[in-house]
Amino acid sequence: MDFKFDIQTMIYLFIFGNLFIALLITAYRFHSHKDIATTMFIQSKWLQVLYWCSILIWDYVPHFLSIPLSNALILGGGCLEIMALLMMMGMMGRKVKLYYFAITVCSTISFCIIAVFFNHSNLRIASASLWVIMFVIYPAHHLTTNKDGSPLQRMLGLLYYCFAAIMLARTAVALIGETEMNVFTANLAQHLYYLGMYLLLTLGTAGFILLSNESSYETLKRIATYDEMTGILSRRAFIVEAHLKLARAAKKMDYVTLLLMDLDHFKKVNDTYGHDAGDRVLKAFALTTQSQLGNGDLFGRVGGEEFAVLFCGLDEESSEHKAEILRKAVMNSFQQEIPIRYTVSIGMITVLPTSNTPLDALYKLTDKALYRAKQEGRNRVVRAKWLG
Ligand code: GH3
Ligand code: MG
Ligand code: MG
Repeated sequence: MDFKFDIQTMIYLFIFGNLFIALLITAYRFHSHKDIATTMFIQSKWLQVLYWCSILIWDYVPHFLSIPLSNALILGGGCLEIMALLMMMGMMGRKVKLYYFAITVCSTISFCIIAVFFNHSNLRIASASLWVIMFVIYPAHHLTTNKDGSPLQRMLGLLYYCFAAIMLARTAVALIGETEMNVFTANLAQHLYYLGMYLLLTLGTAGFILLSNESSYETLKRIATYDEMTGILSRRAFIVEAHLKLARAAKKMDYVTLLLMDLDHFKKVNDTYGHDAGDRVLKAFALTTQSQLGNGDLFGRVGGEEFAVLFCGLDEESSEHKAEILRKAVMNSFQQEIPIRYTVSIGMITVLPTSNTPLDALYKLTDKALYRAKQEGRNRVVRAKWLG
């Protein structure tokens, strides 16, 4: 297969490719959330447009100007693109920033040393390729080894490894070759370079957009799943998860217990100490209750100061014991800013479910038991009976 391509055409492709990506993402962002990662990504595309334009005018500008200018543009563009990706994934910590700062300084110094003392294009190309590897190796490693990463992230990590391998091959070819080359020289080192840049332009951009979509989706899912104030499950998420647990328990013929908890005289807490103090009590209540629950237990906020718990595997006696532990833990919890002890009333039901035990029927019976707990004086656990 003949692997020859016209370098001038490739350069135009890179100019227009980066330009259209920058324009499209800028237009998309016009009416949407403006995050720093996307701003950096757009800036990186503009720098890359300028870089490819600078290559076009290479022969019309003295080389002592065009060489440092082009190198600075591609270094800045590539570095911003990778930092945008890391930032979007929340991987841009202090150490990573220091790492990128250090390699930017070192690569600039090494470029100056080579330009002043050994000004041979092959050495410049080999050193630039090696520094590019240092830039991409961190996302490549992190994306492929992150245990919590998605398949998309691993794929993108592999892409960066491919890019690093291409740059390594280019370093070797540049060091072995003796003839001076420049950006328009059509040899293996340059073919590898354009291949790598093409990979970065197409897959890198698609990867960034997909990752940004993935991260927005995760944010929306988190908002829909967790209650903002207490960090526990929202009502909707609790019901969805409870349905699943009930179906699984029915298959395993395991006990299921549902608890509804309502704080006692909570209006009085608000009226006496203020709404903010009430909020702090709700957060403290959630923490206290959570600390008594196991990993497999569900805990959600199903109303203003009403909460639900679902656990499996405990018969009537053991589940009642656990409910009492929760009630006492709340009663004995201490809130520094509010000089009163607050209590909770609990309605509960325990069933050995079948595949058609309805969750809403259990919920209604538990709610009635909770009502009885309030009527009987509050700060107590009342059990409902399941006759189904
Ligand atoms: P009871 O013992 O009968 O449950 O009395 P109660 O005062 O707790 O009565 P009820 O459950 O009807 O009142 C709930 C109160 O909880 C009313 C509302 O102002 C308050 N509340 C609901 N959501 C929030 C919240 O997010 N923050 C705060 N601070 N208060 C809330
Ligand atoms: Mg209530
Ligand atoms: Mg209440």
